[in-house]
Amino acid sequence: MTHLTLQSITKRFNAAYAVDHVDLTVPDGKLVCFLGPSGCGKTTLMRIIAGLETPTAGTVTFAGRDLTQVPANRRDFGMVFQSLALFPHMTVAENVAYPLRLRGVDRNARAARVAELLDMIQLPHMADRKVTQLSGGQRQRVAIARAIASSPKLLLLDEPLSALDAKLREAMQVEIRLLQQRLGITTIMVTHDQREAMTMADEIVVMEKGRVAQVGKPLDIYRDPVNEFVADFIGLGNILPVTFSGDRIGLPGGQSIAAHAAMRIPDAPGDIRLLIRPEDVCIRSAAANAGQNALPGKVTFVRDVGASIEATIDCDGFTLTAATTPRETPDLRIGMPVFAELPAHACKLIAARAEH
Ligand code: ATP
Repeated sequence: MTHLTLQSITKRFNAAYAVDHVDLTVPDGKLVCFLGPSGCGKTTLMRIIAGLETPTAGTVTFAGRDLTQVPANRRDFGMVFQSLALFPHMTVAENVAYPLRLRGVDRNARAARVAELLDMIQLPHMADRKVTQLSGGQRQRVAIARAIASSPKLLLLDEPLSALDAKLREAMQVEIRLLQQRLGITTIMVTHDQREAMTMADEIVVMEKGRVAQVGKPLDIYRDPVNEFVADFIGLGNILPVTFSGDRIGLPGGQSIAAHAAMRIPDAPGDIRLLIRPEDVCIRSAAANAGQNALPGKVTFVRDVGASIEATIDCDGFTLTAATTPRETPDLRIGMPVFAELPAHACKLIAARAEH
């Protein structure tokens, strides 16, 4: 039983709740992402787990032991922060060896472990370089090697890739994920980038205003978001204010489409929204080859990036974004009349944002 459990964790700064009654279990060996917009409390929650912040209320339990009052340096967790905090005056090898030296690991064992870690991060030939002489991606790897040097049971990563350019960032996402899986180390990562969370996580914890909005596997959250906030935050989506009358969904332009027989109705009170992802909107050139739920419209924008196409369709009263490919819709152009088909099985009804 080495999993991490948070029970009713709350953190108030004066009167404001940064974290508001969070309950969470992080399973062994999994990578869990805390995802949410700026200010939703991700970093505060991570700092509470690390022991760098004391919660106003609630408990942090790891491997069956209550750690709530245990200081950071006695939790034995590995950490990598946005700033990396590598020691600039030390070499790569000295940086990686640092936590081992603190723990009194003897010189030979230390050298062997450092060599093993440098092999793991594919920088064995850079042991004697100063970290200031490394590229951003190499520094990132050194920070991770240092964090896992003393084989921590839990690895905490707070936006560790945010300083990298897009391409390197994507490469490091895969690298960290593969390393994490190979080591089987339970990892929590904070990010505000939903693509990063979808790429790396076994489970995503979506946070909104200090609370957990939804916890689940990336694709489950993408396909079945609990509300408009989560739907909007995870991936692109068409989200329309609608009415529902049992078997028909009333659209903003006055049109209506058929509902799916097994469609779930949100049990929260208030307005409802229709969610349909762009890849589920089918573009047809004529009504004859469109199925049920085809709406006439006109193409108002086409973003063709070679491998994929994103089209905006004005459906008289609202617009839809459709994702397609050059093979499916070879001659799509602005101004073209089309039919946008919204297959009933791909339509979801979700609760509107509370403030609407
Ligand atoms: P970001 O993505 O911008 O880092 P975040 O989701 O990590 O945001 P937190 O840094 O956890 O958010 O902050 C949550 C809330 O708590 C914010 O409103 C923030 O202003 C507030 N907060 C955080 N730390 C403190 C502090 N030391 N004193 C007062 N308020 C704080």
